[in-house]
Amino acid sequence: MSVLLSVIYLIATVTFIVGLKRLGHPDTAKSGNTIAAVGMVIAIVGTIFIHDLEVAPIIYILIGAAIVIGSIIGYLIAIKVEMTKMPELVSLFNGFGGASAALIGLVEFSKSIEDSLQAITVISAIIIGAITFSGSLIAWGKLNGSLKSVVKIPQYNLINNLFFIGIITLAVFMIATGNHSPLFTYGVLAAGLVYGILFVLPIGGADMPVVISLLNSLTGIAAAITGILYDNMVMLVGGILVGSAGIILTVAMCKAMNRTLGSVIFGAFGATAAIEGSNKELGTIKSTTASDAAIMMNYATNVIIVPGYGLAVAQAQHVIHELEELLTKKGVNVKYAVHPVAGRMPGHMNVLLAESNVDYGLLIEMDDINPQFTNADVVLVVGANDVVNPAAHNDPSSPIYGMPILDVENAKHIVVNKRSMNAGYAGIQNELFYNSKTSMLFGDAKAALTDLVSELKNM
Ligand code: NDP
Repeated sequence: MSVLLSVIYLIATVTFIVGLKRLGHPDTAKSGNTIAAVGMVIAIVGTIFIHDLEVAPIIYILIGAAIVIGSIIGYLIAIKVEMTKMPELVSLFNGFGGASAALIGLVEFSKSIEDSLQAITVISAIIIGAITFSGSLIAWGKLNGSLKSVVKIPQYNLINNLFFIGIITLAVFMIATGNHSPLFTYGVLAAGLVYGILFVLPIGGADMPVVISLLNSLTGIAAAITGILYDNMVMLVGGILVGSAGIILTVAMCKAMNRTLGSVIFGAFGATAAIEGSNKELGTIKSTTASDAAIMMNYATNVIIVPGYGLAVAQAQHVIHELEELLTKKGVNVKYAVHPVAGRMPGHMNVLLAESNVDYGLLIEMDDINPQFTNADVVLVVGANDVVNPAAHNDPSSPIYGMPILDVENAKHIVVNKRSMNAGYAGIQNELFYNSKTSMLFGDAKAALTDLVSELKNM
């Protein structure tokens, strides 16, 4: 590798690390993304143009065409996608990353394999890439609703584990015997694809973002392996960063849902939850109007707003910010309580509220806000359900039992805005809605909050 290319890779690597660090805070996330993207462009341009190989002009044309077509498709998808559909998009992109690694592995296998280490690398790229590709497509189908049900084959854990052992045995055989015939090569690819499907198919919908994060990490590992294959430092480092960030995120999400990774992979949370939570009678509910809720908030000293998935669906982030500013002008202390898994992806609420320029200092994490609910005169829950469900504390039979929640029931008054008495993502009822301190403000979040704002303006 030339000195110039080494320097380019070093610069790109630094931009990835700086970019990743800056992604950790909403204020710096945008610039972090740009810095890492610039690093990626530098690395790609360097890789294409600085090398000692004899390359025919047609190869440059093909690479250029692939980059242009891929960039246009990626750009169009990214600007069109709604925030609530982001996990689906991430899943699809993971799948493409895995497919690339598997294809690179196939191409390399058709060339001469010099030693066992190279064979291990190539086979790993094919297997991990194939699992990531098919698993991500199944996850994408589940998230967009085209694969609605949780398909549980009897003894699926046993079958999956035996299948996985079968793949490893085949890989070891190929490495030990040096057998790289197309039959075995495509056999191991097909086995990887089938395992990806078997692995994701039984997992419940509510756990899908965790699985996507895990698959994301696998994509990184596959990229790192191809980096080893091509002795390419920037690909290796980039892959390791994606792989480790994905694992950290997976563990953080499991922790926030009080679940182990094993129970996500071997359980089917979304499925059982929906059945168990069906038609229990929990008492009577009290509904309120925007006018009554506005009076309550107008005379409050401390108001805590709890945003949830429904806020994102209604795209009510701007009007909630307007409400917060209005209350603040009236001398009310307003804070937002942010649960780590509110919404449908990690950091969903932070990103949503940052979009409407809510001061980041007002977003308080669960552990810090929970002791403050006792001092809150009014808690306004907007489109949140599971993350405020006291069953997580009180009901050992509940599928969310043990999940850390926002302790809104400790507040003096609770106003809950949602459209109906329908359950949240876990599919279970919420006794908070039947609490004597709770008033239900029914309606779409954007419409209800707009009414609240106009009532407050008239006071
Ligand atoms: P929930 O899905 O529990 O509840 C959202 C509520 O919003 C629903 O009950 C719905 O009620 C209401 N809603 C929907 N649309 C609107 C609208 N337009 N206006 C007003 N309300 C609306 O969301 P939470 O944020 O409380 O919890 C997130 C869930 O997702 C948890 O179960 C969590 O474990 C899960 N999850 C989250 C992940 C993450 O990373 N964030 C990852 C994995 C899982 P109605 O239909 O009556 O309006």
